[in-house]
Amino acid sequence: MGERVLIALGGNAMTGPDGSAAPEEQRAAVESAMTQVRHLVDAGHEVILTHGNGPQVGNLLLKNQLAADVVPPVPLDWCGAQTQATIGMLIMNALPYTTATIVTRTLVDPADPAFADPVKPIGRYFTEAEARRFEKLGQSWRRFDRGWRRVVASPEPLEILDAPAVLVLMRAAYTVVAAGGGGVPVVRQADGSLAGVEAVIDKDLAAALLARAVRATTLIIATDVENAVVGYGGPDPRPIGRITAQELRVLHAAGHFAGGSMGPKVEAALRFVHGGGERAVITSLNGISGDSGTRVEK
Ligand code: ADP
Ligand code: MG
Repeated sequence: MGERVLIALGGNAMTGPDGSAAPEEQRAAVESAMTQVRHLVDAGHEVILTHGNGPQVGNLLLKNQLAADVVPPVPLDWCGAQTQATIGMLIMNALPYTTATIVTRTLVDPADPAFADPVKPIGRYFTEAEARRFEKLGQSWRRFDRGWRRVVASPEPLEILDAPAVLVLMRAAYTVVAAGGGGVPVVRQADGSLAGVEAVIDKDLAAALLARAVRATTLIIATDVENAVVGYGGPDPRPIGRITAQELRVLHAAGHFAGGSMGPKVEAALRFVHGGGERAVITSLNGISGDSGTRVEK
């Protein structure tokens, strides 16, 4: 029996090896990622795909800024939806199956404390003078080692609102791409309607939520390292292979996994298994159809 596998593709799967995001490089990177995905589908597994969108949103934001005098800039939630469509199109073109991409909204709480403390950097580095100019327009900017970057809230994903559409398409044998970039963050307003917000949702946490919503048995988080590592960057790095959720939780609490990179992947793996998923795997793109990587089970 095949498994139902949700694969979350990291940014490295969608951009060139140097992180550049030229269209030809994005297409080539997606095609090589889909070669790996096809191994899983051809082995009889049912696959659902999600992906990051950091470099692509960064490019759109920059275009918006540069063209602001000519074309009205669009908000961040619009940029998120645009990248879902573009990356979804590239993925669909690279798969020889019936495929569909769902523009996916993820519900967040307007009272989420993240809104009061925006910490997630987006877009490129700018000079302080430029940062100050955008601060006057109401944005939050912070100084990093390499310059100034815009920061936005990264609230908790509460619900993948369009997961029911994903399920319908899966039942009709579609390979579905959904919740790209963590989904477009929306809040429910007083009158019950939904509105997009200027925030970004962690794609790994959203992937765990989508994986539960579509009752996946396996969550695979494909990134640019083979394993989560204890003592990463230190003198005695130890890659983690098979591990129980309980053991991984202890390492996570001890601070072994950096926030904003490996931390959310470990958190997503733990949430998925805790929520009833059979296994979560953190591995490289080349490892997704094998049995390497960090494999988390109850
Ligand atoms: P993605 O685009 O796939 O989400 P990220 O850059 O967010 O990739 O996360 C993967 C990165 O996490 C790795 O390239 C590595 O530099 C970093 N990292 C931080 N802590 C660890 C750790 N403990 N083990 C392995 N990688 C880690
Ligand atoms: Mg990441």
